[in-house]
Amino acid sequence: MKRIALWTGVGLMAAAAVAALLLFTCVFGNHTYRAATCTEPEACTRCGKTRGEPLGHDESAAACEAPAVCRRCGAVLSAPLGHDFLPADCEHPQICARCGITRGEPLGHVFAPATCTAPEICTRCGITRGEPLGHDMTAPTFQTPAICTRCGLKDGEALPPALLGKALNELAVGVPAPYTTAGYEDRDVDVTGTVEIADYTVTAGDDDFPPRAGYEWHIATVRLVFEGDDAKSNGALNAWTYGDWYLCDNAMTAADDDGLRAFVADWYGTRVTCWQKTGPAIESDWYDRALRFTWREGVLVPEGYDGVLLIFCNYRLLKDAPGPYLPASAALDETTSVFRMK
Ligand SMILES: [Zn+2]
Ligand SMILES: [Zn+2]
Ligand SMILES: [Zn+2]
Ligand SMILES: [Zn+2]
Ligand SMILES: [Zn+2]
Repeated sequence: MKRIALWTGVGLMAAAAVAALLLFTCVFGNHTYRAATCTEPEACTRCGKTRGEPLGHDESAAACEAPAVCRRCGAVLSAPLGHDFLPADCEHPQICARCGITRGEPLGHVFAPATCTAPEICTRCGITRGEPLGHDMTAPTFQTPAICTRCGLKDGEALPPALLGKALNELAVGVPAPYTTAGYEDRDVDVTGTVEIADYTVTAGDDDFPPRAGYEWHIATVRLVFEGDDAKSNGALNAWTYGDWYLCDNAMTAADDDGLRAFVADWYGTRVTCWQKTGPAIESDWYDRALRFTWREGVLVPEGYDGVLLIFCNYRLLKDAPGPYLPASAALDETTSVFRMK
């Protein structure tokens, strides 16, 4: 009986020990794990034994102004990215390439002025505004083609001279040419001699040819010589008139007190007053059986004008002329000699 009680006691003690071991130790493999965390694996609350791996953070994406964080534990994992601003341009402020937030103001266009052929254009971005101005063409003149007053573009040709293409017997300086005109005694009979431009100068002026600002004198020294028998018996009457390469006819007024006759030239599209003067005779007589006339003919024209024609014709053409000179269109034919005072 005692023996049974003894064993009963032993059994109770053993059971108590087992219970204690169960309750307070993990010797039977009875671990009690708490859940894993981002950084810790499952671990036994009693003995610290671990199982498995940490969960690792559940990382959110960082944004311009927000850091990357763990959705589970809230740990901050990286700094905000900061904005990635693109430069401003004419029409847009700075803008973040990532989030679209803007900063500042657009720069605005910087327009260069329009030209004849291009509208206003932004020097920064190249955008255009409005239309090209178009050319502002002048009318052509005898001296220039049509030309744009703004950009200088030339279009076409200068106006054609009135006498372009007309055959003229042009005199060269120092080269006598035949000259036929009316006799002095019998004006119905022709007399033939020579006409020569003995000298030609372009000058500001001199005692006989008064200077004028902006003008220049074109002066020809003319020499007519008659030495044939026809002239010896009949004499000769010289005759000359003026024309214009561009306008052909050059109507001249009567001479003023200085011997100046006004006429008009077309100079760069403007009608410009010019003057003519016949200088005093240098020779006008018989010299050694030759009848010689030498004198200077001058025209006062704008500097550079090259259109005046000095025309030697038969006196009979001129004698009924309404003024001192015959219109060139009535004088120019195959018998006249022409010197262009250019
Ligand atoms: Zn344990
Ligand atoms: Zn975490
Ligand atoms: Zn941003
Ligand atoms: Zn622009
Ligand atoms: Zn233009």
